[in-house]
Amino acid sequence: MAGGRRGGSKDHLARYRGKRDFARTPEPAGSAAEPPAARDLRFVVQRHRARRLHYDLRFEIDGVLVSWAVPRGPTLDPKARHMAVHVEDHPIEYIDFEGVIPAGEYGGGDVIVWDRGTWEPHTADPAAAVAAGELHAEVHGEKLHGKLVLVRRDHDDGGEKQWLLLHKRDQHAIEGWDPEEHPRSVLSGRTNDEVAADPERLWRSDLPAAEASVPVRPQHAGPDEDALVALDELGDKGAWDVFGRTLRLTNLDKALFPGRDGAAPVTKRELVRYAARIAPVALPYLAGRALNMHRFPQGAGAKGFWHKQLPTHAPEWIPRWDNPEAEDGDTSTYLVVDEPAALVWAANFGALEWHAWTSRTAEPHRPTYALVDLDPGSTTSWDDLLVLARLHRTALQHVGVRGQPKVTGRRGLQIWIPVTPGMRFDETRGWVEQLSRAVGAVVPELVSSSWTTRRCAPTASRCGPCSTG
Ligand code: MN
Repeated sequence: MAGGRRGGSKDHLARYRGKRDFARTPEPAGSAAEPPAARDLRFVVQRHRARRLHYDLRFEIDGVLVSWAVPRGPTLDPKARHMAVHVEDHPIEYIDFEGVIPAGEYGGGDVIVWDRGTWEPHTADPAAAVAAGELHAEVHGEKLHGKLVLVRRDHDDGGEKQWLLLHKRDQHAIEGWDPEEHPRSVLSGRTNDEVAADPERLWRSDLPAAEASVPVRPQHAGPDEDALVALDELGDKGAWDVFGRTLRLTNLDKALFPGRDGAAPVTKRELVRYAARIAPVALPYLAGRALNMHRFPQGAGAKGFWHKQLPTHAPEWIPRWDNPEAEDGDTSTYLVVDEPAALVWAANFGALEWHAWTSRTAEPHRPTYALVDLDPGSTTSWDDLLVLARLHRTALQHVGVRGQPKVTGRRGLQIWIPVTPGMRFDETRGWVEQLSRAVGAVVPELVSSSWTTRRCAPTASRCGPCSTG
């Protein structure tokens, strides 16, 4: 939560982290929140059709969106008393999200920006007002105007999340005003139905919040059929035009993987083809991050080696990052897969494994993912590895954190967990250690005998992510 770190209330940030640990769920944490002092606070109302229709009323407070779900919606009607459920804070990046949350995800459904604008709290410390159970907000939206009041109900049965939302009888009040009669987005003019039918953006909970709102249509299409035919027609080497670049490909007929069940071996041509086809999909995970390459120029059956330094023979257009902190003997220049052709280049370079850093080059000491690295060693079965990975999944579910698995190397597994921006590597590592210790206590025989569960979160930027896939 960079806003809190840079300019917001430290106390609030501490409370927030205490509540959430540092990892965000169900949607990743906020960043890029400017200190609010210099400008007006924002609010948003999102009409959200999940399992049930509701309106999410969100106020910017200390760099996050403090949120209530209001089934009947906010209204200008001063007679209305609408139930509002206080839900977890959302990252500030979510404020202008309109689109679709994938089915099966938390909150899966469609979302429009039903109203937005600025607001003024009645107190200098709105976070304290929320904690005390009563928030008064003067809102300046496109639909909503005037004084809203949120009051926590102190009933034994409802629990502390039950609040009431009302509009004061001020000059903006309109009796009988019904939010459902004003169904269009203030952002696009579209209804939920229209957005659901043709969404422009998805909210990807598995990505850090700053990257979670992604276009539905890939920014880069895959290679077209002509390009794939041209690749097949090349000899063992040659120039290939793809993604607007010309790549000089070599050793295309070299076998890199043995064939399955008597099938022909998998050649570098097929790896290159695969890289081109997957590049548009993989790009969101690779862009803006230094890439450590694990190269196997003689194929997966031979010994591979780590290659981090971008070679001088790499074409000039290859995106790259010069590590300003590199000392003599360190890797000074890294590949950054900011465009799909760069991944094809890496494949042709013999990189079978692509290990993006957990931090971005813009802030190399600030990971955006915590990383659990599960390495089976040499004597443990894949099935046992899956047991450990699933136990981690269960543990993550218990603390309400979302992680995604990634296969690495021959038989390793990593779990990538988006974290609140601003964390240091020692913080993510400490948290992962706690997690893995808890999991290990469940299956001590696995962990103590044959597992090595490495907690991979390097302290120095030169290390990047796990360097031993
Ligand atoms: Mn919602």
